[in-house]
Amino acid sequence: MSANHSEQHYDIIILGTGLGGLVCGYILSKNGFKVLLLEKNAQIGGCLQTFKRFGVKYDTGMHYIGSMLPGQILHRLFHYLNLLDDVKLSRLDENAYDVFSIAGKQYQYASGYEHFIDTLAQQFPNHRHDLREYTRRLQAIADASPLYNLRKVEENVFIEADYIKTSINDFIASVTADPTLQDVLAGNLPLYAGVKDKTPTYIHALINNFYIQSAWRIIGGSDCIARSLADSIRRFGGEIRTRSEACRILCDEHKATGVELTTGEVIEADSIISNFHPQATIDIIDSHLIRKAYRDRIHGLENTISNFTVYIKFKENSTPYLNYNYYYYEHDDVWKANDRKPGDPLRSYLFMHQCAQDNQQWAQSAEMIGYMRFDEVQQWADTKVGHRGEAYREFKERTAEHYLDVLERSFPGIRACIEDYETSSPLTYRDYTATRFGSMYGIIRDKNFPTQTLVSQRTKIPNLFMTGQNINSHGIPGVTIGAALTCAEFLGLNKIIDEIENNNS
Ligand SMILES: Cc1cc2nc3c(=O)[nH]c(=O)nc-3n(C[C@H](O)[C@H](O)[C@H](O)COP(=O)(O)OP(=O)(O)OC[C@H]3O[C@@H](n4cnc5c(N)ncnc54)[C@H](O)[C@@H]3O)c2cc1C
Repeated sequence: MSANHSEQHYDIIILGTGLGGLVCGYILSKNGFKVLLLEKNAQIGGCLQTFKRFGVKYDTGMHYIGSMLPGQILHRLFHYLNLLDDVKLSRLDENAYDVFSIAGKQYQYASGYEHFIDTLAQQFPNHRHDLREYTRRLQAIADASPLYNLRKVEENVFIEADYIKTSINDFIASVTADPTLQDVLAGNLPLYAGVKDKTPTYIHALINNFYIQSAWRIIGGSDCIARSLADSIRRFGGEIRTRSEACRILCDEHKATGVELTTGEVIEADSIISNFHPQATIDIIDSHLIRKAYRDRIHGLENTISNFTVYIKFKENSTPYLNYNYYYYEHDDVWKANDRKPGDPLRSYLFMHQCAQDNQQWAQSAEMIGYMRFDEVQQWADTKVGHRGEAYREFKERTAEHYLDVLERSFPGIRACIEDYETSSPLTYRDYTATRFGSMYGIIRDKNFPTQTLVSQRTKIPNLFMTGQNINSHGIPGVTIGAALTCAEFLGLNKIIDEIENNNS
C-alpha cells in the first residue's frame, strides 16, 4: 500500500452528507455495513445547512415540511430515522399555511383536504366541484405510489406512467377551466421549480398531497436533521469526515475500487454512493466503464433554476410574525415566473418569517427567495466564496435593495423594520452543494422525455450508485424515499419497508 493509501477499507463510501447521503448512511450502518461518509464542506448537511448572521440562524434549503402528524408519511419516516426527539416542529397556520398574492388578490391553502376545499370554495363558489375533483385526483396519484405509502413492491415501481407523461398545467386545466383557480392551484410552483408544459404531474401531486395533510416549520433550523442522523450513524459504527472532498472515483477494469481526496489520500471500499449531482459525479470518473453516450446523456440534462435570497433580521418587536408562507406574483399566469431574463425586475418571490420560540408574536427574521438564472452571475463564475470582488458585492446589494422595494409593495413599512440583511446567489449554492449552476432542485424532469430525464440510482459501474435529489425527486420526502431506493440495491426494498413498518408498529 502506498503512503497515501488509507489503512481502512470500507464496505461503502458515501460521497456527500446532504439529506440523501445521511439517510443512506443511517439505513446502511443500521444494517451492519461499515460506512464512511465524506463531506467536502466544514459543515455536514448540504441543503440542510444553516448559517448564523446578526445572532440569528438562517436555513439555506429546507424551510418547511409536511405530513408530520402521527401516521402521515414523513412522521413514519422520521420515526424510523429516530428523528422525532431531535427535530422540534411548529405548525403553520391550519387556515392558511400558504398564502398567494396573484395580480393583487390573495388566496390561501388550508390544512386537511376538506378544509382546503372549503377555504378556496369561499373565493371560487362555482368551482367547489373542481376543487373536489382536484383533491380527489391528487390523493389518487399519491395513493398509487407504493413507495409514498410504504407498501411492498414486486419491483422498484415509482409512479404510474400517466402521471409522468402529463404536465402539471394540463392536469390542472383538466380539473378546472377557471384561469384564476388554475393559477392558485399552481401557486406554489417554486417548491419544485415547475416549468409549463414540462414538469410532470406526479411532482406537483406528491408535494401538494404532502403539504395539504399538514405543514410545519422546523424550530431552530433544519441542521438538527443532519446532526441527529449523523449522531445515529456514529452510534451504529459509521464514520463521517468533513473537509474531505472527493476528486476522483477510482476504478479497475470492472468496478469502482475507491475514492481519492483532494489531499491525495486514497480510501478503498467495496461500493460507492455519490450524493452529489450526477453531472459532477461522472466528471470525477475516468474509466472506460462510463461510456461517452451515458456521459453525454447525463451532461445534456437541463437543471432547475437557481435563486437569489435575502436573509433579513428585523428590529426587535417591529413586525408581527406571519405563521404562513407568502407567494407573490405581480401578474396572473404564475408560470411566467420562469420567463425571467437577466436584469428583469423581480415579479415573483417566496417570503417566509421565522420567530424566536419564546416570542411568537413578533418575527425575528425572514427569507425572501426569488428565481435567478446562473447567467446573471456568470461573470463571477471563476471566483470562490469570500473572494468574488467589489463588483459582485455591488451586484448583490443592488439586487437586495430592489427585492426589498418590491417587498414593501405588499408589506408597507417593512423596510423600516429591517435591522440588517445578508444575501446568497446562484454562486453560493453552486459552491456549497456542487449543484450545476446553483440549481435549486437538480435535474428538470420533463414529461416529454420521461425516461431520459429520470436518473437511476444505478450507474454504468456495477458497484457505484447515486442518491440525493436527482434520484426519485427532491425535497424531504423525495430525497428520503430516493435514499431508500439506493439502499435497496444492498438490502432489497421490501426489507427496508419492513424495517420502517416494524419500527412504527
Ligand atoms: C432554496 C431552497 C429551498 C428549499 N426548500 C425546501 C423546503 O422548504 N422543503 C423541502 O422539503 N425541501 C426544500 N428544498 C429542497 C431540499 O433542500 C433538497 O432537495 C435536499 O436537501 C437535497 O439533498 P441531497 O441529498 O440531494 O443533497 P445536497 O443537499 O445537494 O448535498 C450534497 C452534499 O454533497 C457534498 N459534496 C459535493 N461535492 C462533493 C465532493 N466532491 N466530495 C464530498 N462531498 C461533496 C456537498 O457539500 C453537500 O453537502 C429546498 C432547496 C433549496 C435550494
